[in-house]
Amino acid sequence: MNKKLTLVALAAAFATTAFAQQPQAEKKPVRMTHEMSEYFEPIPTKVTPGDILTHTAPSDAIVLFDGKNLDAWKSGRPNVDGPAEWPVHDGVFTVDKKKGDIITKQSFTNYQLHIEWCIPENITGKDQARGNSGIYMQDKYEIQVLDSWDNPTYVNGQAGSVYKQYPPMVNPCRKPGEWNVYDIIYTAPVFKADGSYLYHPRVTVIFNGVVVQNNTMILGTTEWIGFPKVAAHGAGPIRLQSHGDPSEPISYRNIWIRELN
Ligand code: MG
Repeated sequence: MNKKLTLVALAAAFATTAFAQQPQAEKKPVRMTHEMSEYFEPIPTKVTPGDILTHTAPSDAIVLFDGKNLDAWKSGRPNVDGPAEWPVHDGVFTVDKKKGDIITKQSFTNYQLHIEWCIPENITGKDQARGNSGIYMQDKYEIQVLDSWDNPTYVNGQAGSVYKQYPPMVNPCRKPGEWNVYDIIYTAPVFKADGSYLYHPRVTVIFNGVVVQNNTMILGTTEWIGFPKVAAHGAGPIRLQSHGDPSEPISYRNIWIRELN
């Protein structure tokens, strides 16, 4: 657990203990806010990525988007299991905030995922309302997508972060209008009979050819407010987030996955 989360957890534990020693009438619940799990320093160093080639899918990959249609996807919210209705054009597809999230029809366990994303050149907004999307592994754990070229925000919420848990080790984000590439190696959790982790989920993220998460131990589900939660689950789809900002649309292209089971 990083220092900030540890401090917040210790503070919460101390507060709970302190309250426990007070007369019953003085007990007050700790009110969680989203700011409690956001921190701003140290800021990941900016790294200029090299000129990597756009990857085409290897022969054993499941192609999730080849530039033509969203047949591998369906709606994840609000019209659950309805058709994925984000517009496909010019070999890419674009987030449509009116249509909500989309998820893969197929569920996955352990995998290597390749996905490319682009923030529009004329992006507006700031902070978390500037090109916000995200890639949820097994529908529970988000790798953040956000314009992080020149956009201060909490560091555990910038592009390449395990959202609200770990910032990227460095910041190789390209500027709006240019394509970014994630290669994500994900290892699913294993649960004990009581629903707690025997083995946490783990993730490696290579961002424009640069490692930004190195076999990172995911603490639990992605939560905007409060701490990660742990509850047993099996295989799950990949979810792409529509954050609902006026600054959308973000585009995606060239998505493929290799199962590692
Ligand atoms: Mg997001």
